[in-house]
Amino acid sequence: MNHAFGLRSVPGALAFGSVGVPDSFLPEICALFGQPVAGNPMQFMMERAFAQQGLDWRYLSFEVTPESLGDAVRGLRALGFRGANVTAPHQFAAVKHLDRLSEAATQMGSVNCITRDGQELVGENTDGKGFLLSLRSVIDPLGKHIVLLGAGGAARAIGVELALAGAQKLTIVNRTAGHGQDLANLLAKNPNVQIEFVPWEGKYEVPADAQVVIQATSIGANDPDADVPVSFRHAAPGLVAADVVITPPETAFLSEAKRHDCVALDGLGMFVYQAAIAFQHWTGIAPDTTAMRDAAEEFLSS
Ligand code: NDP
Repeated sequence: MNHAFGLRSVPGALAFGSVGVPDSFLPEICALFGQPVAGNPMQFMMERAFAQQGLDWRYLSFEVTPESLGDAVRGLRALGFRGANVTAPHQFAAVKHLDRLSEAATQMGSVNCITRDGQELVGENTDGKGFLLSLRSVIDPLGKHIVLLGAGGAARAIGVELALAGAQKLTIVNRTAGHGQDLANLLAKNPNVQIEFVPWEGKYEVPADAQVVIQATSIGANDPDADVPVSFRHAAPGLVAADVVITPPETAFLSEAKRHDCVALDGLGMFVYQAAIAFQHWTGIAPDTTAMRDAAEEFLSS
């Protein structure tokens, strides 16, 4: 099954070239900028997707320090790269080096995807849209009460897209009150969504009227046993519990949610879809997201 729903196919896109028999010996290049990038499955997954579509394209991961980010983006521009993904810690700082931003990236104040459009570099944030595509495989956020744990970059991207997708109520729960309140204030600009901020003190009880709870903090990254201080004892039957963490995708949060008969959604879905949207921005082709997920799983289990 191809999970590329929601992504547009462009006929004739294979004209770019074919793997093994390059048309021009001048491949198109895309990149990942971050620090650290070692262990990130993006390059492995993107190169699989290029090959699967018969594209003679390359994808390279670069360790970029915060001091070098401007030079890295200027290099991307000078060398004619088709695009780049931007990961931690550069999502906010990259904005000032670009020519234009999408509406979502403007609202979030951060980018995770750069696309060259003629002489311009355009910033987009595909994290929230990727999360939405993943979430919609199990539930439509329209009219739902959704709890968002965390208020960092991932939570902000997800919150903005959930508000645009017609969530009825968003409850932001965060350890540092100032960060949580900032996100609540940003989301409150959407007049049709009820926004609530709850400081995270002790164990947070997921309320019985919530239909979705999203673990969007960095707890669990590189630590599958890390405890997220949350209780599901009042959770409604069929509650969807989603995690954003991918290293590894099987988190203690999701195990606990499954023990309470919740529907569990791992962070790999978001990861694959946000990358698939970037892929389509660069190439005009909707990739096979099932094959991309297989590649990401293969990389993470090796
Ligand atoms: P940020 O550093 O921007 O935000 C981290 C968030 O986690 C903050 O809300 C922070 O709270 C909270 N947090 C961290 N440690 C704790 C703790 N011990 N207890 C409570 N809260 C805590 O990170 P990002 O938002 O960029 O990334 C978050 C996670 O999402 C990472 O694991 C990242 O890899 C993942 N991610 C996954 C993606 C995917 O495609 N699946 C895409 C993007 C990110 P406070 O404000 O109090 O500091």
